Amino acid sequence: MKTLESVSLKIIVILSLIIVLTLSTCGQSRNVNQSALNMNNISKPENPYYSHTDTTKLNLTDAEWKRILPEELYEVSRHAATERPFTGKYWNADIKGTYYCAACGRRLFRSEAKFASTCGWPSFFEQEDKKSTILRPDSSLGMERTEVLCGRCGGHLGHIFDDGPPPTGKRYCMNSIALDFIPDNE
Ligand code: FE
Repeated sequence: MKTLESVSLKIIVILSLIIVLTLSTCGQSRNVNQSALNMNNISKPENPYYSHTDTTKLNLTDAEWKRILPEELYEVSRHAATERPFTGKYWNADIKGTYYCAACGRRLFRSEAKFASTCGWPSFFEQEDKKSTILRPDSSLGMERTEVLCGRCGGHLGHIFDDGPPPTGKRYCMNSIALDFIPDNE
């Protein structure tokens, strides 16, 4: 009988071990999935002002922007440089997700408002919310245009034109460099 009891005890111990191991493995796979999701978050340790949730307006000096932004982004965002058409990351992107200001993280556009424009820059017919962007007359380069600035950091994003599709008829013509994109989680 004693032998039988000890065999039963061993079986119970082994079964317990299997259950514990199975549970911990499930936990690990959840962690793996979680870290895969976290890869969609954008981390910019060199830019302490970058946030997808803080909408407090930023008023930094040009020197501070120069210190914290990559050179190409600094030239577009702070000095209204324009990337060459058909060269940016997003001009023909067609994935569901959200576009943010690359300089400060402000939520700017949803992919549903993006349309296939032939201009070579990512184009949207409406901004995400009323305060996402600010519009300003721009008469540089001998043209009368309307500049689009980020509503939080005031950084240059591109220009807006009246040749967009319904329902707004607007075309926010943006520089890919000035945008970050996070795809929706499936
Ligand atoms: Fe911004």
